[in-house]
Amino acid sequence: MTENKSLGTVSSKAGSMFINGAWAPAAAGDTREIACPADGQVVATVSEGTAEDSERAIAAARASFDSGVWSSVPAPQRGDFLLKVASRLRERKEEFARAESADTGKRIFESRLDMDDIAACFEYFGRLSGQQAGRIVDASDNNVLSRIVYEPVGVCSMITPWNYPLLQAAWKIAPALAAGCSFILKPAELTPSTAILMLDVLDELGLPAGVGNLVTGAGAAVGPPLSSHPDVDMVSFTGGLVTGRGIAASAAGTVKKVALELGGKNPNVIFADADFDAAVDNALNGAFVHSGQVCSAGARLVVEESIAEDFVNELVRRANGIRLGGPYDEQAETGPLISAAHLEKVDAYVRKGREEGARIRCGGRPATAAEVGATRGAATPNDPQGPKAVGHYYLPTVIDQVTAGMSVLVDEAFGPTITVETFRTEEEAVAIGNDTIYGLAGAVWTQDAGKAQRMASRLRHGTIWINDFHPYLPQAEWGGFGQSGVGRELGPTGLGEYQEAKHVYQNLDPQVTGWFADHQARPTQEEN
Ligand code: NAD
Repeated sequence: MTENKSLGTVSSKAGSMFINGAWAPAAAGDTREIACPADGQVVATVSEGTAEDSERAIAAARASFDSGVWSSVPAPQRGDFLLKVASRLRERKEEFARAESADTGKRIFESRLDMDDIAACFEYFGRLSGQQAGRIVDASDNNVLSRIVYEPVGVCSMITPWNYPLLQAAWKIAPALAAGCSFILKPAELTPSTAILMLDVLDELGLPAGVGNLVTGAGAAVGPPLSSHPDVDMVSFTGGLVTGRGIAASAAGTVKKVALELGGKNPNVIFADADFDAAVDNALNGAFVHSGQVCSAGARLVVEESIAEDFVNELVRRANGIRLGGPYDEQAETGPLISAAHLEKVDAYVRKGREEGARIRCGGRPATAAEVGATRGAATPNDPQGPKAVGHYYLPTVIDQVTAGMSVLVDEAFGPTITVETFRTEEEAVAIGNDTIYGLAGAVWTQDAGKAQRMASRLRHGTIWINDFHPYLPQAEWGGFGQSGVGRELGPTGLGEYQEAKHVYQNLDPQVTGWFADHQARPTQEEN
């Protein structure tokens, strides 16, 4: 943890806002210190904006969009620009990964993977740009030329969370730039560093002034104009359900296009015929990667009754051994939660479950200092020894003896917790898997291909994994059913979110239609 976590060149800029092609401090002059969740060390000081800063950024984005400086660049050239961004990201990967780990506390290994995924996202949309030129419509009339063109939506606000800070931003920036939009990015206030580096790259590669803008600061302060301002055409939000509902309501006043990527309460369904070891291992990954701070985390284990006891015993044994540690602990398997406030939220979720009668099989409390960076044994819920860790570490937690309607089954914990439910029939497994207001992702484990496909058809979630958990592809749509959101990111649909379809209809042989009869004789020249 003594390695360099500073942001180098970007932290020394005049301010962390990037508006109309220039770095700027917040209009009110405020700043915020960013602390690494692994150890509390301050890693950056950034500008803390207000609505005034957002309004300046919106004005810059509007002017750039209306000027056509980016939207009129041919789509293949916009694609070439994205490919250059990808290649620059690969060159600066280590700097970006370190900044991401500094802000989030996640292992540097994971941040490096994230940076590879981000470059791949820019490559995907770079290649897709220009291939979506539109289409000719068969109007069943040889005298008609009817075509659909895809035009940029316009000015897009992008509001992103802290769990995968740059990845979530990249899923918006890449398709928006491919489509020809201008944007204002507002990263989560706790994790702005890689967004700052990203705008640095876009600037370095010559994105015209005003096309990409960045405002940093708390959501409640900088956020409102981003969803309500009449000069914004679209707001794309990734974050919590309650915030998302507020953004949708705020955007409704000017009937903006709204894209929402919200939370999940994702079932991981294990049939008795599944490969036991692979299913246990992936259940751990599903629930505890990044300490469960993953929207698609497999937080609900739904396991066939006949194997439930063995399966959960093994899950608990393995969860107890997960090694916690900071970004540069090479043996760490997962890291801290993002903040003290979030740790308290996760702990409150577990406490409430306990009060409602659920049983905590392991974990169930913040880690002690001695439990971080060390190999752990079979910790029990009530044996904290020594002081709490300095970082915001929470023990991987397995919760069973749950019943329908309990808050642990309903609420998203967004932490390292997994609940256990059991089923006897396929029908029951479907009912449990769909018993949520969310619908982001789910998994099915079975060696019966027919059962796997039937389950995939019947589970109402945006992504279904069969015999796997967590992989995603930039070329495959991502998003939620139900209250997990509106719209899709990635894939061709992810580009379509940033486009408006326009129908251009040309009559090549105009004729008098005769629809309205000419009831009066046309006046003569003299009468006129
Ligand atoms: P959050 O809703 O608290 O914050 C998300 C963003 O919204 C932040 O940038 C925040 O500053 C901003 N914000 C807050 N109030 C605002 C307001 N009034 N106006 C405008 N912006 C405002 O969420 P979080 O805690 O950062 O992220 C965790 C949530 O994100 C979880 O629920 C998780 O499931 C979800 N998530 C979903 C996906 C997905 O792909 N569906 C991906 C990642 C995270």
